[in-house]
Amino acid sequence: MTSNDLASLVRNIPDFPQPGIQFKDITTLIGNGPAFNQVISTMVERYRNAGIEAVAGVESRGFIFSAPIALQLGVGLVPVRKPGKLPADTYQIEYELEYGSNKLEIHRDALTPGARVLLVDDLLATGGTILAASQLIERAGGSVAELAFVIELTFLGGREKLAGYPVFSVIQY
Ligand code: AMP
Repeated sequence: MTSNDLASLVRNIPDFPQPGIQFKDITTLIGNGPAFNQVISTMVERYRNAGIEAVAGVESRGFIFSAPIALQLGVGLVPVRKPGKLPADTYQIEYELEYGSNKLEIHRDALTPGARVLLVDDLLATGGTILAASQLIERAGGSVAELAFVIELTFLGGREKLAGYPVFSVIQY
């Protein structure tokens, strides 16, 4: 399957969750076994010999991809979650959205000091979410090796905002 074939399996939902947003629905991609497998294999091959010591995933859709990648790399999985979900002591970060703000948390003891972390989410849009998650990884003592996405909306310029962090995506629009 080419990257174009994978892209054609992502469903576009106009005006969701609000007018003017074209939502990239990945349920149609992960519902296709060979396509899901290929997305995960592409990531695993890329990072197999990259010295990754932990994989972190951003709630919620990031979990779908980060878990099988961690499993196949043979390293642990660290959840970056919405506030109030993680039960032990956390670090919290607040970041600005187009309208309002969001918060993310990580367990303070989730990483061994200096651990090389692969940070995974489903989609890179403006980059605000993953930048906040990267800062959390660093506060917890980790080092961000690369930011990996299934989908990148290149026209939003997230990659430029993330200058300093290597960025990889499987599908680009
Ligand atoms: P951003 O912080 O702008 O990079 O937005 C990234 C986060 O919002 C990711 O967790 C995505 O799942 C979600 N997101 C943003 N835009 C879209 C979109 N057009 N379709 C699907 N998810 C999106």
